[in-house]
Amino acid sequence: MKELFREQDITRVSYYKAVLEERGIPTMIRNEYLTFSGLTEIPIPEFFPALCVLNDEHYVEAVAIIREHLTANQGNADMEITCISCGETNPGNFEICWSCGNPVSGDKPPM
Ligand SMILES: [Zn+2]
Repeated sequence: MKELFREQDITRVSYYKAVLEERGIPTMIRNEYLTFSGLTEIPIPEFFPALCVLNDEHYVEAVAIIREHLTANQGNADMEITCISCGETNPGNFEICWSCGNPVSGDKPPM
């Protein structure tokens, strides 16, 4: 099992779970129970719901699908941010790197 991303907003996590399962990738949400218990009122990322693929070999495909959706929804596919920590490219609306989990801030073009 491998974690794809985590986010405080359970509705977005659930959305991507549905998207991936539609493509035949089995997933599970970690910390889902904590969300409904209200513990995520405390903004500690450790307790955020996390979307995971059950089989590690689906990880790369799952990340690609999520990125595809993000760019499709954003409509600014050519605006990408390069993570200053690991060098991966992230969609322009990402604040946290999908790959290493560090903030991607640093070279965001001014609006
Ligand atoms: Zn990174």
